[in-house]
Amino acid sequence: MTLSRMTHCAVRSLWGQSSLLALVLLTCVQAQTPLPQTAVPTLPPPSGLVTAQPIGDSIFPALGQAGLDVLKYDLDLTVDRPGASELRGTVVLTVTATKSLPVLSLDFLGPPVLDLRWNGLLVPYRHDGTAGKLIIGPPQPLLPGTRAEVAVSFAGQVGVRPDPDLPLNVGWQAVPAEGERVGANFTLSEPDGTRTFLPVNDHPSDPATFTTRITVPAGYTAAASGVQRLEKVAPNGNRTFVFEQAQPIPTYALAIHVNRFERVDSPAVPVGVGGTEVLRRDYFPAGIAADTRDAYASTEGVLQVLADWFGPFPFSAYGSAIVTPRVPALETATLSTMPVASSAVRVLVHETAHQWFGDRVTLADWSEVWLNEGLATYAELLWAQAQGETGSEIVQGWYARAGRNQTRPLVATTERQLFDTTAYIRGALALHAVRVTVDDAAFRAYLRGWVSEFQDRPVTTADLLTYTHSRLGARAEAALRLWVESPDLPPMPER
Ligand SMILES: [Zn+2]
Repeated sequence: MTLSRMTHCAVRSLWGQSSLLALVLLTCVQAQTPLPQTAVPTLPPPSGLVTAQPIGDSIFPALGQAGLDVLKYDLDLTVDRPGASELRGTVVLTVTATKSLPVLSLDFLGPPVLDLRWNGLLVPYRHDGTAGKLIIGPPQPLLPGTRAEVAVSFAGQVGVRPDPDLPLNVGWQAVPAEGERVGANFTLSEPDGTRTFLPVNDHPSDPATFTTRITVPAGYTAAASGVQRLEKVAPNGNRTFVFEQAQPIPTYALAIHVNRFERVDSPAVPVGVGGTEVLRRDYFPAGIAADTRDAYASTEGVLQVLADWFGPFPFSAYGSAIVTPRVPALETATLSTMPVASSAVRVLVHETAHQWFGDRVTLADWSEVWLNEGLATYAELLWAQAQGETGSEIVQGWYARAGRNQTRPLVATTERQLFDTTAYIRGALALHAVRVTVDDAAFRAYLRGWVSEFQDRPVTTADLLTYTHSRLGARAEAALRLWVESPDLPPMPER
């Protein structure tokens, strides 16, 4: 995420007045038709439908379910009225477990559930929209080594999740039509907004693959994370788009956009795994100023410079979808979400770096978010140096900024710390402190190794310290540890 220019942003009520339906009553009915929104029959809860252990995130202790491993989300969504805070569809989750689970507990603040099936069978469930949990009772416990398909159909108003520290709600964004602007929707879900519109195990330690099928009204275009597989036009003009996100990504990194877009395809860039080509496409809303597009002409160069430092680009496609509200830029996988006001190369570099750090190498706990933000911020320096700058002004600027702000050890302890100056700037300086202990060839191999060794294993700061020691030795580890742990700002890193 990039917070540039957000401090004074006047976020107007672009997100609608969606109110959550409080489906707090037990709904063990065999629902085949939409549930009434009041007076759901109250039945005694089957034992086991009552509790489930969350993942135990230190910042968001209620998120997720311990032992649940979602392998894939298969989405079939329809946006009937772009610009409204509503959605309907079905998601099929392919799930397995790392321990026996007598119930499934998904995060879901979103629209009322219409139908829920476990391997095709109707099963009891309870949707507590206030707590944001969808508790499901399977016919038998989900055992390690077994799989199940859980299909959840829903329709209506999306849920509301206020951002930890910005004046907006995260999750499903609704941009109403205004003047010449048409209504639009997009996702902006970091840290835990995907649960406003999809039932998910909403934690970065459980990344999954996605197939996203979206039907939109005539004239609209849908875009989503992954490679587009299909575009179909129905007799009434409605269009259905299908996207395949074949590599696992955290739930917050899922991009979905609905807008009157112009899709611009560019030549593929051979920076993928094994030299494969990364498809290039960007989506521009109709009517945006021509100079807004300028930053995106650098995308190919950004991919090349960052792949040189971090290793092959981890996904099959990359580009940006530009949005008009003044929100933070976000590193949605394969398709960064870029506000018009943040359409600058520096921001593009930052979000592109997150494709490696955050989207592919994922967090074990939200307290570790500096691992994402520090590396993405550091990429801005690497880019500047690739353009011929020494970078010393950037590093000095970071140090001065860190000195002007309150500092803290890098691992966050509160929600408000997640995206503060320490996570971004001190995080970047910590990496610089490692870099100055070795030569650039060793630092490059170190960054590449971090991606290749940890891309399928959610990471912690302890992992990075151990890895630093094993790759670069005790001096590099000590330098990093000082920046990780010191309550004060350590001295400026210098060679
Ligand atoms: Zn970021």
